Amino acid sequence: MTERKLICVSCPLGCELTVMIEGKEVISVTGNRCPRGEEYARDEAVEPKRVLMTLVKVEGGAERVVSVKTDRPIPLRLFPEAMERVRELSVKAPVSIGTVLEENFLGTEARLVTTRFAR
Ligand code: SF4
Repeated sequence: MTERKLICVSCPLGCELTVMIEGKEVISVTGNRCPRGEEYARDEAVEPKRVLMTLVKVEGGAERVVSVKTDRPIPLRLFPEAMERVRELSVKAPVSIGTVLEENFLGTEARLVTTRFAR
């Protein structure tokens, strides 16, 4: 059994979590003050996830790129594939904030959305 220490980043309290792991299975989580901490620890120990933030090309506009992000965390292991996919994408100007560029991004159920306006 392996012990892993994590800091929960789900809220500003930053609880110190201790996760006991057997193989790929989480046996216990302690130190969390609420259920979100346990969920965070189980994800982080077995399948770490992050929100992807990057840039997508803009066609025919004054700006060459627009910032985008996934609307929920996606598995970190998919980031290389996600960046390849993002490099293939482009969007025509003008672009509004919150424009959905892809639904179910890489099969994760996350949407890839713009986070800025681009002329
Ligand atoms: S365990 Fe709950 S209270 Fe503690 S940092 Fe995470 S979300 Fe906040």
